[in-house]
Amino acid sequence: MNFAEFQRRFPTQEEVFTYFKRVLYNGKVKCNHCHSERVYQRRTTPKLFDCNECGNTFSMFKDTVFEKTTTDLKKWMYAIYSYLSSEGELTISQLQREIVVSYKTAWRMLKKIRDLLDSGERESILKGGKKCQEEIEQDPLAQVR
Ligand SMILES: [Zn+2]
Repeated sequence: MNFAEFQRRFPTQEEVFTYFKRVLYNGKVKCNHCHSERVYQRRTTPKLFDCNECGNTFSMFKDTVFEKTTTDLKKWMYAIYSYLSSEGELTISQLQREIVVSYKTAWRMLKKIRDLLDSGERESILKGGKKCQEEIEQDPLAQVR
């Protein structure tokens, strides 16, 4: 699936956040303070969650490479997807061409994805990312309306 098809598959912001919830938390976001699962996503600022247990407000991207990125999350999403589906063979220039970013940005993104996969987050990224990849590939047209 190329980036244009991918964008048609995930037209809304909500789907992007669902994807990252799966990739980063395996689908179950927990409070980063008390670890409760009784957390609620804000409708207007979907990256923010409020915890019903302790009142903590946190970003689902806290302490991840996505926290301060200025690159479109959908591009990140596609980069992770292609990296996983190419079994790590995705090159900087392929990524650069597909999502139309500078070589430097593509280089940085790939490096961060590799770092993520080498770090302690590896398991959740792999599990969450692979699961998403399967869902995306199972029925690529399901959500193109
Ligand atoms: Zn909490």
